[in-house]
Amino acid sequence: MSFLNVIESYNIDFEKYEEKLSFDEIKKSIYKEKKSEFDYLNLLSYKAGNFLEEMAKEAQKITFQYFGKTIQLYAPLYISDYCTNSCIYCGFSALNKIKRQKLTLKEIEENAKEIAKTGIKHILFLTGEAPEITPMEYLLDTVKILKKYFSSISIEIFPMNIEDYKKLAEAGVDGLTIYQETYDRKIYDSIHLAGKKKDYVFRLDTPERGAIAGFRRVNIGALYGLADPLKDAFFSGLHARYLQDKYIDTEISISFPRINPAEGNFQPKYHLDDKRFVQFICAFRLFLPRCGITISTRENARMRDNLIGLGITRMSAGSKTSVGGYKYDNLPSQFEISDSRSVFEIEKVIWQKGYEPVFKDWHQF
Ligand code: SF4
Repeated sequence: MSFLNVIESYNIDFEKYEEKLSFDEIKKSIYKEKKSEFDYLNLLSYKAGNFLEEMAKEAQKITFQYFGKTIQLYAPLYISDYCTNSCIYCGFSALNKIKRQKLTLKEIEENAKEIAKTGIKHILFLTGEAPEITPMEYLLDTVKILKKYFSSISIEIFPMNIEDYKKLAEAGVDGLTIYQETYDRKIYDSIHLAGKKKDYVFRLDTPERGAIAGFRRVNIGALYGLADPLKDAFFSGLHARYLQDKYIDTEISISFPRINPAEGNFQPKYHLDDKRFVQFICAFRLFLPRCGITISTRENARMRDNLIGLGITRMSAGSKTSVGGYKYDNLPSQFEISDSRSVFEIEKVIWQKGYEPVFKDWHQF
């Protein structure tokens, strides 16, 4: 059984569904204790935009109930931008003729020290997909260094098999982030021009392999702008529920990244506006109350500040999206960040909002 079977079991005409949907049904869905996938779809609909205030109040209440008034902070560290894939929306695509970088172990340590100075304890390290350049030994050495400075280590690297994930988990990696990018198989095929990433099903099953391998936390999501946002929000929500129900020992969380400008000048065909973006976050919170929601610096400061209290539980802070960007300037980045505030500034905002910034909620022995 794969989540693919779940996707294929739905044959919804989303437009017709929305046409028939009544305001009464949406109101019921907001307050229903255990929500079905169709309640979730009702909350994602355009019509539900009329109830955004009510949804936001409920989302705030539920987030407080399940997570308290806390926001966990982390920082991403890009260690290599070599990539054999050609994702047309990404600055690191093999199609882009940029000067590639891979950090030496010494450079990784220098960057780790810079990040650790800010108080960050949770690190997410990233690479493109080029296993010949960033082989397992290199990744394990990276983990060994990062363990000296951080209490929780997550990866956002190329999809692996269970055995390789187990090696990383045993070395001390406790979190995996892997985005499906889009759940629309046709569009997926048309924007991933070459490389291993063309394999939609292998990628779709990756979070599951991560949970089986023993990662404590698995974070999934779609990249908004690539395909119809409603369908991607619906299927990513279902994917989170599927994983949560099947792997009860794994903490499942979700992100809602929207496309930002990157090298290659990709122009997104679909647009998820701010209001609907907030609506999606509230809808997801109401659908899966105990699932974490992560927000990155793809969003601007105003949006990130306003989302505190509305369902999000985890934020990146002080991020650099170029390789070794904490120590070295002016290198190409994967995408432009929209919130360049320091960790200290973000920490201050969280306190001002009446929330507690959490730097550490896990210790690896
Ligand atoms: S999104 Fe990831 S896999 Fe695709 S080109 Fe960028 S770095 Fe490579």
